[in-house]
Amino acid sequence: MTQEIKILLREDEMPRQWYNIQADLAKPLPPPVDPAGNPIGPEALAPVFPMNLIEQEVSQERWIDIPDEILQVLAQWRPSPLHRARRLEKALGTPAKIYYKNEGVSPAGSHKPNTAIAQAYYNREFGIKRLTTETGAGQWGSALAMSCQLMGIECKVFMVRISFEQKPFRQMMMRTWGADCVASPSSETETGRRILAETPDTPGSLGIAISEAIEQAVTADDTRYSLGSVLNHVLMHQTVIGLETKKQFEQIGEYPDVLIGCAGGGSNFAGLTFPFLADKFNGKELRVVAVEPASCPTLTRAPYVYDSGDVAMMTPLLPMHSLGHGFIPPPIHAGGLRYHGIAPLVSHLLQEELIEATAIHQLECYQAAVLFAHTEGFIPAPETSHAIAQTIREAKQAQEEGKERIICLNWSGHGLMDLSGYEAYFNGQLADYSLPEEQLLRSLVSLEGLPRPQ
Ligand SMILES: *Cc1c(COP(=O)(O)O)cnc(C)c1O
Repeated sequence: MTQEIKILLREDEMPRQWYNIQADLAKPLPPPVDPAGNPIGPEALAPVFPMNLIEQEVSQERWIDIPDEILQVLAQWRPSPLHRARRLEKALGTPAKIYYKNEGVSPAGSHKPNTAIAQAYYNREFGIKRLTTETGAGQWGSALAMSCQLMGIECKVFMVRISFEQKPFRQMMMRTWGADCVASPSSETETGRRILAETPDTPGSLGIAISEAIEQAVTADDTRYSLGSVLNHVLMHQTVIGLETKKQFEQIGEYPDVLIGCAGGGSNFAGLTFPFLADKFNGKELRVVAVEPASCPTLTRAPYVYDSGDVAMMTPLLPMHSLGHGFIPPPIHAGGLRYHGIAPLVSHLLQEELIEATAIHQLECYQAAVLFAHTEGFIPAPETSHAIAQTIREAKQAQEEGKERIICLNWSGHGLMDLSGYEAYFNGQLADYSLPEEQLLRSLVSLEGLPRPQ
């Protein structure tokens, strides 16, 4: 007999409901507000998102049924395996047991299709014919491109120009899945034309791409906008990850001591951890750790404020830890996880001290990623490597304490489309970089005059 590596579920064991953590919060999440501090009602979001998703965004129901058609598409790759990282454990010489939930098995290579499929479905059900979105490196754009194709609606992706030129393969994935992907700024929107006239050779930015995508959504009746992280309903769609993981642990008669996820907008972290936090609310011992890059330290150094989701301030103000909507991530940093804010739900849980957060430098992350590839075989996405680096820290600590700790991380995606980051690492072109305090303070100036969450 060989040792068990993968804990697998049958398709009929897939979760049939999403878990909505809002139902179990002792202190409710502060509402989105306008710049004067007045709460924003669901109607205000209607030009941007379909009402069925806005209802999920504000729902206080603990469980929300997953429509059969969504389950049927998720079954193309779900349930995803929970792996025991025996070879990594051995290399570390740790008494800890390390498990990783492999979300890299989706066709787009990450957890992102879990919500992209649901969002394409609900938009189509609402009569929407076309979704717009932005993408930086291309992971979200490709997840939505595939999902719109599978659900039978059109997809328009505004891809930051510099990535469009430097990362042709993600762009080709989107085209293969039938999406219309253009470099942003484009000549197709007012915002894009204005910026091109002012600065013809701009590299573009996520802020510009979001503004272009929202502009096209609000100016056409049959078009809406789609966001890949941060919002409550997006995090809820990701809870299939944690719900499956709980069943997988039940199957082997274990329960994790520590859960770890990398945090950009917060969706994969929430997806793994929220269903377990429900147990923690009921008194279960459990540590939950979010890991972010030291160069973009939203949870560990940014204040808890109301801030906009985009540079042009087209979105309502959300209660979150934020580096300021004008934050420009340092170019020295290779991986994703560059967003200025983080999901209100994740921010709230940190405020309530129900989760922990830590920041790690990129060289330690790449070192961890390479050790992972050498032992487990799979090459992780640069974002995922943050969760792996923290896992290794925890495993080493278990060794020092001589404790058999059970650690589980969310392996949010593979890195086969991000090999240029690995190349830069191997060539010695990456350096550790802490966001300087004065740069942080300068970026926080954009928050002046905005209301504060109570
Ligand atoms: C997009 C992405 C992330 C960061 O987004 P979250 O919303 O924080 O999950 C992390 N890992 C991978 C592989 C991604 O594609």
